[in-house]
Amino acid sequence: LPTQADVLIIGAGAAGLMCASVAGKRGRSVLVLDHANKVGKKILMSGGGRCNFTNLYTAPDNFYSENPHFCKSALARYTQWDFIALVEKHGISYHEKTLGQLFCDNKSRDIVDLLLAECREARAQIRTRCEIQRVEPLAPKGFEVHTALGKVVCESLVIATGGLSIPTMGATGFGYDLAKQFGHNIIPTRAALVPFTLNKRALARQQALPGTSLAVNASCGSGHFHEQMLFTHKGLSGPAVLQISSHWKKGMPVTFDLTPGLDLPEWLNAQRGKRQESFLHTVLAELWSKKLVQFFLQRNGIESKPLKQYSEQAIKVVGEKLQTWTLTPEGTEGYRTAEVTLGGVDTHEVSSRSMESMKQPGLYFIGEVLDVTGWLGGFNFQWAWASAHAAGGEV
Ligand code: FAD
Repeated sequence: LPTQADVLIIGAGAAGLMCASVAGKRGRSVLVLDHANKVGKKILMSGGGRCNFTNLYTAPDNFYSENPHFCKSALARYTQWDFIALVEKHGISYHEKTLGQLFCDNKSRDIVDLLLAECREARAQIRTRCEIQRVEPLAPKGFEVHTALGKVVCESLVIATGGLSIPTMGATGFGYDLAKQFGHNIIPTRAALVPFTLNKRALARQQALPGTSLAVNASCGSGHFHEQMLFTHKGLSGPAVLQISSHWKKGMPVTFDLTPGLDLPEWLNAQRGKRQESFLHTVLAELWSKKLVQFFLQRNGIESKPLKQYSEQAIKVVGEKLQTWTLTPEGTEGYRTAEVTLGGVDTHEVSSRSMESMKQPGLYFIGEVLDVTGWLGGFNFQWAWASAHAAGGEV
C-alpha cells in the first residue's frame, strides 16, 4: 500500500471511481480503498444486471433532500449528457427502456469497465479488501488513515462509502460515523425504493397473485407515481411501489388508483347502457386479468351480476369502490433489499460546489452517503457521477 497520496478516496463504488478518474486526470496522485473483495458491486447488480446508468430527464426535482437546492449546482455542471458522452466514448451500446431510463444493451460490467479504464488513464490506484480502522486529522492540514494494510497520509480525503442498503454487498455506516467524528449532523436514514410488506391476513387474501402486475397511480403524502405495481409473496413491489416507498413512513396509508386515467364509475355506467346482459366480472376483465378481477371484487365484497341488475347509482358505487385501493403497509423489506438510503450527511454543512465539508477542510462527501436520494430510474447513479465530478475537480 502506498504510504502517501494527494487524494485518498474511501469506497470504490460509482462515486468513488468517478472521482478518482477526474482527480487523477488533474495530475493528483489518487488512491482508492474499499473493504469489499471487488469494486462497483452495486453497479454490477444494478438495473437487473444492465445498470440504469442515468436518466434523460434528470432534474433537481427527481431528488429528495432536507436541502433541495443542494444538488442543483453539481447536476448542472455534470449532466446526463456528459455521462452519455462518456458511455459513447467507450463504445458501450445502450437503450432507453422507459421514462428516459438508459440501460446498457449488454451488461452492467460495461460501466464498471468504463470507470476502471478511466481510472487507469488517470493513474489512480485502487486497492480492495482493505479495512479502514480509523482516520485522524493532521495539523495544519491532511489526514492519517489507518488501514488493515498500513497507514496512508493524504491531503484530501473523500468519503464515497454509499448508504446502508444491501449490507451483504458491503454497505456499512462508515461514512455516517466518520461524518459524526468531524462534527457533522446526520439526517436520519431509512430504506427507500423498497417493496412493502403486508400483514398475514392481507397476504392470505392475495396468495394467488404473486407475479401479477398492473398499472396504477400510487399516492402517499405528497408523492404520486403512475407506474406498474407487482404483487409478491411478501406484499407489494414494482416501480410504483418502490417510488412511493420513498414518501412512506410507518403507519401512513398508501392509495392506489387501479384504473389510472379512467373514471371507472363513469366507464362502468356507460358499459351498463351498452352491454346489459354482460356480467360485471366479464366487463372488468377488459381492464384487469381474471385473477385481479376476482381479487378486487372479493376484497370489496362485491358480487358479480349482469350489468342490467345494477341501478346507475349502484354501478357508480361499485366503480368507486373498485377504482381506489387504500391500505397501510405493515412495513418495508428494509435495507436488505432497498435500492437506496434516504437521509445521510446533512448537506447544509457541505459545499454544493465542491462537496467539501464546512467543518473539516480537505474532507469531502460524495454519492449516496450525502442526504441526496434520487427517484427510481437512473437518478441515483447520475447523482453519484455529478457529485463525484464536482469533488474530483477540487480535491
Ligand atoms: P456505492 O456504489 O454503494 O459504493 C460504496 C462503496 O463503498 C462500495 O464499494 C462499498 O464496498 C464501499 N464501502 C462501504 N463501507 C466501507 C467501509 N467501511 N470501508 C471501505 N469501503 C467501504 N441506481 C441507479 O441510478 N440505477 C439503477 O439501475 C440502480 N439499481 C440498483 C439496484 C440495486 C439492487 C441497488 C442496491 C441499488 C441500485 N441503484 C441504482 C442505486 C445505486 O446503486 C447507488 O445509489 C449508487 O451505487 C451509489 O453510489 P456510491 O458510490 O455513493 O455508493
